Amino acid sequence: MKFGGTSVADTDRIRNVALHVKREVDAGHEVAVVVSAMAGATNQLVDWCEAALKERRIFDAREYDAVVATGEQVTAGLLAITLQDLDINARSWQGWQLPILTSNAHASARILEINGAELIQRFKERHEVAVISGFQGVHKETGRITTLGRGGSDTSAVAIAAAIRADRCDIYTDVDGVYTTDPRVVPRARRLDKIAFEEMLELASLGAKVMQVRSVELGMVHNVRIFVRSSFDPPGSIDPHGTPPGTLICDEEEIVEQQVVTGIAFSRDEAQISVREVQDKPGVAAAIFGPLAEASINVDMIVQNVSPDGKTTDLTFTVPAADYQRSRDVLEKARGAIGYARLDGATDVAKISVIGIGMRSHAGVAAQAFRALADRAINIRAITTSEIKFSLLIDTAFTELAVRTLHALYGLDKPTP
Ligand code: ASP
Ligand code: MG
Repeated sequence: MKFGGTSVADTDRIRNVALHVKREVDAGHEVAVVVSAMAGATNQLVDWCEAALKERRIFDAREYDAVVATGEQVTAGLLAITLQDLDINARSWQGWQLPILTSNAHASARILEINGAELIQRFKERHEVAVISGFQGVHKETGRITTLGRGGSDTSAVAIAAAIRADRCDIYTDVDGVYTTDPRVVPRARRLDKIAFEEMLELASLGAKVMQVRSVELGMVHNVRIFVRSSFDPPGSIDPHGTPPGTLICDEEEIVEQQVVTGIAFSRDEAQISVREVQDKPGVAAAIFGPLAEASINVDMIVQNVSPDGKTTDLTFTVPAADYQRSRDVLEKARGAIGYARLDGATDVAKISVIGIGMRSHAGVAAQAFRALADRAINIRAITTSEIKFSLLIDTAFTELAVRTLHALYGLDKPTP
């Protein structure tokens, strides 16, 4: 059972969480619990790190981790206290105590190894509930505290579920599942009963904010069934042996009725850069994307035309909006090595992505979208496709219209009651 920041935002909510745990324990389940920091706590800790710095521009990531990992330590202890208050045998575990061994990429460490044996033994022998701090681990060699990157508790939970060979990893959050798209944009969005790992991976990477991308990746690799559900459902009203409302992220084999399109994701945090009139010859793409990669800028959609005369062509790509100016600066600096006429760019662009495993075996899925958007006079600036998704870059102003149009087009709207 994993509980996110809003679910543990204060001691009342922590008690609510404890009641969810008690229900499962009383039903005879052996559970491990992973908690996030209280809502806002990690942001506060990050702010303090930044405020502590006056002379230097960047801080020592090892110390940053020492600070930000504390948020989860507090909630793990508080939940253990609350569980004990309900007469449940419980204890807290910090990442270094289990231990959760990680790489030394401080602030974005990767989990390398977790030994679940101790936890399993304690369930069996003492019915002891383990309450584990999410987000943190310890570097294998230096012994220093590491963190897994923002939103990392999801990844902690899935990794621990794999380590103790759990039947399921329940992610309790402030929404009751994964929706066909953001219900704030499309009120007719439906909650999905099931979604395949690969689809969820695409949804999460393309803008849906339900889970950390890496946690889904990990679930896919270790085949950990992940169940996204709400912590705000009253703990007592749920049948611990039944199927509560929520979305199961699982292997595609487990999904009997597969739709062609499962969901639509969108992101407004995109920027477009066009490099005009570059030489159409070997090495040019490397000259452009090499320096961007060195600056750790994540390039997403890339479109290059075939030049009409075999001499020059344009190359367009997208980067996160936050990296727009930095990307331009990098390209200005590399201008001599690349050789181009000018740079054009736009930040008022959005990426709409249509996702579904069924696309593998259905032709013409994207063509339908092009028609529907054309009928609404929405211009498409760039297109990319993969086996199970396609993404369209459009003007931000049309985001909602495009998402609604595509949602209806692929039959995702909830039937009218
Ligand atoms: N507390 C961390 C964060 O806010 C980790 C998490 O909540 O998943 O990013
Ligand atoms: Mg989270």
